[in-house]
Amino acid sequence: MKSRNPKLIIFTGPSGVGKGTILADFFKKVDKKIVYSISNTTRNPRDGEINGMHYFFISKEEFENMIKEGDFLEYACYSGNYYGTNKKFVEEKLKQGKSVLLEIELQGALQVMKKCPDAVTIFIKPPTFQELEKRLRGRHSEDEQTIQKRLLIAQEELKNADKFHYVIENKVVNDAVCELIEIYNKETA
Ligand code: 5GP
Repeated sequence: MKSRNPKLIIFTGPSGVGKGTILADFFKKVDKKIVYSISNTTRNPRDGEINGMHYFFISKEEFENMIKEGDFLEYACYSGNYYGTNKKFVEEKLKQGKSVLLEIELQGALQVMKKCPDAVTIFIKPPTFQELEKRLRGRHSEDEQTIQKRLLIAQEELKNADKFHYVIENKVVNDAVCELIEIYNKETA
């Protein structure tokens, strides 16, 4: 297997833009030299989500203890719930020579950019805001109030796309996946 230069990769984009769909295909197509960082969250699992695979679903109290213990590389409160990246996991994988991909929202991404200036940063944007709203509603996983909150946050997030090294427009999923693979190959060469 070709040797690679391990990198921390930040993958950010508004809720509903299709990050999960892109990543599911990306991880099927690339080598095992990159791993997905499974976050901790205090939000409730959606139908089909598995603890330890999609997230580690923990209580607010457990999350706040982890903050106190300094367990997070970054964390944020997003739409009423905590989300955070396990620092030890990231450090261990990088030490083992693997790249680590963080799928995180904007506040967390900005924290990691400060702490890890060598991180490769990627922002996924929708073709239009209307399309984002359509996708968010189409997945039927949130109630109206949550959708409204997420759309408001999305407006702010989209204004920050130019802070990232790469911006991928997710118009056709397959094209977005190809772009992501190209970035991965280039940045870890
Ligand atoms: P969802 O509830 O839709 O799974 O995630 C909501 C948002 O939180 C998404 O933008 C997702 O990328 C982000 N997110 C997931 N894990 C983390 C994390 O560990 N840290 C931060 N800051 N955001 C995260």
